[in-house]
Amino acid sequence: MSSAHQYVYVFGSSRTEGSAAMKNLLGGKGANLAEMCRLGITVPSGFTISTEACTVFTEQGRDAALALIRDEVLQGVAFVEQEMGKRFGNADDPLLLSVRSGARASMPGMMDTILNLGLNDEAVEGLARKAGNERFAWDSYRRFVQMYGDVVMGLKPAKKEDHDPFEVVIDMVKAQRGVQLDTELDAADLKELVARFKALIRARIGRDFPTDPWDQLWGAIVAVFESWNNDRARVYRELNDIPQSWGTAVNVQAMVFGNLGDSSATGVAFTRDAGTGEDLFNGEFLVNAQGEDVVAGIRTPQQVSTLGSQRWARLAQVSEDERRARYPSLEELMPGLYAELLHAETTLENHFKDMQDLEFTIQEGKLWMLQTRNGKRTGAAMVRIAMEMLRQGMIDEATALQRVVPDRLNDLLHPVFDTHALREAMVIARGLPASPGAASGQIVFFADEAEDWAQRGLAVVLVRQETSPEDLRGMSVAKGILTARGGMTSHAAVVARGMGKCCVCGAGAVHVDMKARTMTIGDQVYAEGDWISLDGSTGEVYAGRLATQDAELSGDFGALMALADKHRRLEVRANADTPEEAVIARRFGATGIGLCRTEHMFFEGDRINAVREMILADDEAGRRKALAKLLPMQRGDFEGLFAAMTGLPVTIRLLDPPLHEFVPHDEAGQQVMAQQMGVSPGRIRMRVDELREANPMLGHRGCRLGITFPEITEMQARAVFEAALEARAKGAVVKAEIMVPLVGTVREFNAQAAVIRKVAAEVFAQRGESIDYLLGTMIETPRAALVADSIGRQAEFFSFGTNDLTQMTMGFSRDDAGSFLPDYLKRGLYEHDPFRSIDQKGVGALVEMAVAKGRSVRPDIEVGVCGEHGGDPASVAFFHRAGLDYVSCSPFRVPIARLAAAQAAIAG
Ligand code: ADP
Ligand code: MG
Ligand code: MG
Repeated sequence: MSSAHQYVYVFGSSRTEGSAAMKNLLGGKGANLAEMCRLGITVPSGFTISTEACTVFTEQGRDAALALIRDEVLQGVAFVEQEMGKRFGNADDPLLLSVRSGARASMPGMMDTILNLGLNDEAVEGLARKAGNERFAWDSYRRFVQMYGDVVMGLKPAKKEDHDPFEVVIDMVKAQRGVQLDTELDAADLKELVARFKALIRARIGRDFPTDPWDQLWGAIVAVFESWNNDRARVYRELNDIPQSWGTAVNVQAMVFGNLGDSSATGVAFTRDAGTGEDLFNGEFLVNAQGEDVVAGIRTPQQVSTLGSQRWARLAQVSEDERRARYPSLEELMPGLYAELLHAETTLENHFKDMQDLEFTIQEGKLWMLQTRNGKRTGAAMVRIAMEMLRQGMIDEATALQRVVPDRLNDLLHPVFDTHALREAMVIARGLPASPGAASGQIVFFADEAEDWAQRGLAVVLVRQETSPEDLRGMSVAKGILTARGGMTSHAAVVARGMGKCCVCGAGAVHVDMKARTMTIGDQVYAEGDWISLDGSTGEVYAGRLATQDAELSGDFGALMALADKHRRLEVRANADTPEEAVIARRFGATGIGLCRTEHMFFEGDRINAVREMILADDEAGRRKALAKLLPMQRGDFEGLFAAMTGLPVTIRLLDPPLHEFVPHDEAGQQVMAQQMGVSPGRIRMRVDELREANPMLGHRGCRLGITFPEITEMQARAVFEAALEARAKGAVVKAEIMVPLVGTVREFNAQAAVIRKVAAEVFAQRGESIDYLLGTMIETPRAALVADSIGRQAEFFSFGTNDLTQMTMGFSRDDAGSFLPDYLKRGLYEHDPFRSIDQKGVGALVEMAVAKGRSVRPDIEVGVCGEHGGDPASVAFFHRAGLDYVSCSPFRVPIARLAAAQAAIAG
């Protein structure tokens, strides 16, 4: 043995080199196959070529990689031969192999598996003789040629509307023979298919199908390495933040056969319900089938458990008699094997302490496990499984909190169909409740068109026969997904749950015609663009567009939130501008309002007229007159906010945007405004022109408005103080915080603070009572962060406006970044969009510096963040580490921020 680096790790009954701890090296699939062997679970023997070999392949090319792994692969095959008692390439009793990809993170359906490798025209005869089953041998061979022709040799449909070229040939042969199902084809038909497939490959690819098993094997290994870099794998990684640099492992494993007749089967199962989280073993299988038949939606799969089977029959409207006759459960059909499977699933879930997604094959009455991994699940299932495992004593509080991906709480927070709307609605079809949620949208039939439509701002439902990995982008932008074929473990179902997207699968009554772009149900035809609605929790499909209502926030969700509150240190406030939003924010657990944008109130009703009157005024007197009209309205708004948030802080920001945002820019709008104001359109146009700025983001806005027009600040401050006193008189506990925006120097702050304090004194004197309040500033210009110590001597709190701080620190505006930022992200110049997740190194350094400087002069200074970043889990973790007191985000993101804050506290 040489002392060279090890690239190949075997697993089997006599020896296993890998383990679950080696995921980075062996990929998730390989590491878990090894772990199952260690647990004594029956797994076909094999070996894993490490992700390091893939990296060599990507960086140094095919020859370098193959030279490095060659000897070890030969030894690996010899190991499998010994374990299985068959020889690879032997024509009488051939060892057949599967070649399976498997990266560190599970990527369902991403890279294709090749089954039955090692067959050729001689070996197929040997296999037939040995199995005593000619049909089986030719079925295996035709599957192999089909998969290898597609995945390794690259024979694909020419156009997206075209059918798979192999399937076209299969349909021709079926038509010739007058049969409907693949299973009705006999050995001679399958033999003919193999011949036709090979001819097709020769004609279209210009090469012969490889007959030498070793050529087949090397070709397959290379194809897996290459598949790491194919488009759909890249898209999946982009969508799921998986680095492109990880590489995939290759698993080479002895074949076991689920297609050896009626005592053979193949299936997939979940140790708990992936949709609801219910602690119920469930899954699907097909008798006499192989590989992806179950997920491909070709035949209707059967349920593993009888309970599940009965539930399925109710949804699919299949009678109990028909169910037992045509779709019996594995529990009914093969009770002994079902018990074994149950034992394996319990062992695996207890071992991994998480919900497992399992693949298994039964070969002539013997159960083989082919895969186990932590199962994808909906947000609702994440919460339920975490909380139940906690109650069952399987995991501790910290683990339960870490099991839920904060962003996935979205699934639970988002609306369901309005019960009244549902009563009126017409169910047009039923499918399987593959991924919960409520979706209404216009029908589209192609994934790329779903993208186009969504880009144009339309709500779409993607309707397909079944989905494939090419559809990922389209699925991610659709409101919901409807498929005519496929079960709960079909591609569409698994991917939709991963995305938290509403999905109804296997709606058998739906007939999709891709060419005509129609969907027919009974005699009703629905065209592209027609509205439909899907309920992913019941599997119901409705005609038209249905209204929705709010989700339920108690139960396991409430318990998880309580747990998060127990562990987190950061407070979570909400950005809310109206009493209605404040009520939602409280319901979602906000502990205050971190940002009330006062200008949002300016647009309501006829207030905009008073605002425009102020903008149009020639002098201070004119402005004051207009502001006097606004005062009672603002006071009313603030009073409502203080009442809704009684006992909790409410942070009110003074007017921030440039004034031109309040005037119409088009001629028609200016005409209307002129009429309302009783002035000439020319006058309006002139004022609008005056307000125009080359760079409004860096123009006359923020405290610069209050400094040039102090009467605006006066009015707003008066509204706050009068509202505070009023609300307190009515019983509210008021904690007002007034915030000056866009400060760059302490003098700006001082100028505004003087105005505010003067108004406070006036109001308190008039009323004969006073109220405590905090007067602070936003830190959102880089200069403010740099001189935060001098500002901190005057300001009682800081609130980081990370949107502006990001724009000004990066030197590009959020509105203009669209022309280059996507390119930057693609090329890795930025790891993520800095407006979505804070740039920790750059902008983050300014935050840390400002916190330190502020605390150095005022140790108890309150520091928080308002802006989009306050609801981004990675940013929340950063703000926790930076020692902030609170984050503030939109009401719907408050629960996400609470959980993210708890996870950050646990991570330390
Ligand atoms: P994916 O990563 O897409 O799940 P897999 O590598 O798990 O792909 O393979 C897909 C399917 O192929 C499996 O679910 C299983 O049914 C079948 N398969 C893979 N390896 C074997 C094998 N050694 N014997 C029998 N079937 C296999
Ligand atoms: Mg698999
Ligand atoms: Mg700002």
